[in-house]
Amino acid sequence: MNYTTYGKTGERVSLLGMGGMRWTKEMSDEEAVAALHRANELGINYFDTAPGYCDDRSEPILGKALANMPNDDWLVATKGPNGLTESEVRERIDTSLDRLGVEAIDFYFLWCIITPEQYTKALQPGMCLDGIRKAHEEGLIKHVGISSHMESTGLKRIVDDGLFEFLMVPYNAVNFGQREDGVRYAKEHGMGVAAMNPLHGGIIAQYKDKLSIFEGSERNGVEEGLRFCIESPYIDVALSGMNTVAQVEENVGYAESYSPLAAEEFDKRVEELRSSFDAMCTSCAYCVSGCPENIFIPAYMEVYNHYLLTGSIEETKGRLNWHKQFGLLRDKAPVAANCIECGNCEEVCTQYLDIMTRLAWLDEQIESQMQQS
Ligand code: SF4
Ligand code: SF4
Repeated sequence: MNYTTYGKTGERVSLLGMGGMRWTKEMSDEEAVAALHRANELGINYFDTAPGYCDDRSEPILGKALANMPNDDWLVATKGPNGLTESEVRERIDTSLDRLGVEAIDFYFLWCIITPEQYTKALQPGMCLDGIRKAHEEGLIKHVGISSHMESTGLKRIVDDGLFEFLMVPYNAVNFGQREDGVRYAKEHGMGVAAMNPLHGGIIAQYKDKLSIFEGSERNGVEEGLRFCIESPYIDVALSGMNTVAQVEENVGYAESYSPLAAEEFDKRVEELRSSFDAMCTSCAYCVSGCPENIFIPAYMEVYNHYLLTGSIEETKGRLNWHKQFGLLRDKAPVAANCIECGNCEEVCTQYLDIMTRLAWLDEQIESQMQQS
């Protein structure tokens, strides 16, 4: 296993981290513990969990595993929902400590910042960050970080505020364009960076052969997804939700085959990926500022990407719905039907996409139907 230093924390972390969000209802605690122990035996030392994951079983399962880990080299990461008050998050921290059976949590995240408003609120006196900081001062938390789904502009604000030692973001070979600048900025400023969702919700694993960016590759989708994050010199830990011993062994094998590239080499890879996205939006966001209707075009085009990959109206609806509830369209009023076909976006689109046609299709086939139901 290869390791790196997790930014300002100074902690040595494995490039592949173990996610704790994939324990299924059918799995016993013992099966999950066996997978966690195998990961530790094979050199993974970063173990991620959160309250609520897997019907709230994830933290207790990790606690069971930590009680008799094969070796002492492990670090545990868990999280506190950003909307909590200072006292509420303190209760959560105490519960997490108890469930994990540890005296201190190595990495604690201000969790799941999707909008700038959530970020601002969490930083207000008496709110979530105050509770986390207090626990840090008392030695119950060793390092404080943040997880965010915001794009590069939001991430840069977090970096500039200088309140966190590390950052976790959704980042992979398909969506990197949304956060690449922010991730690099964080790294330049000494923060640790963890990538969640390296397989883009399973899309890379399932549809790798349909993705033009991997054309000609004989590697499977899981390997390609992990490879991209591990080869990035801007990512310290690629978090993968592995739920069996076999999956752990397979993924560790991939992780050990790759190591971070020199910045110039990785930049070349990013450019190659950008230029081989065939008919798909790369989330570069060049189209955003010129839209007179303030439609957040990259989100709609990402939903359309989903349709190109899955060919399923139902799944595409699900993707749009997710963006409206939790993702890039949360709190955004303009919809696909607001497009006035001015053509500004198509003039600047780096992928030469027929954005207007795609928006019209999304409106007719997906969004209007959702509004009616
Ligand atoms: S064509 Fe539509 S989506 Fe594109 S910039 Fe004009 S109004 Fe916005
Ligand atoms: S310019 Fe084109 S590729 Fe870039 S985000 Fe907009 S639609 Fe996607």
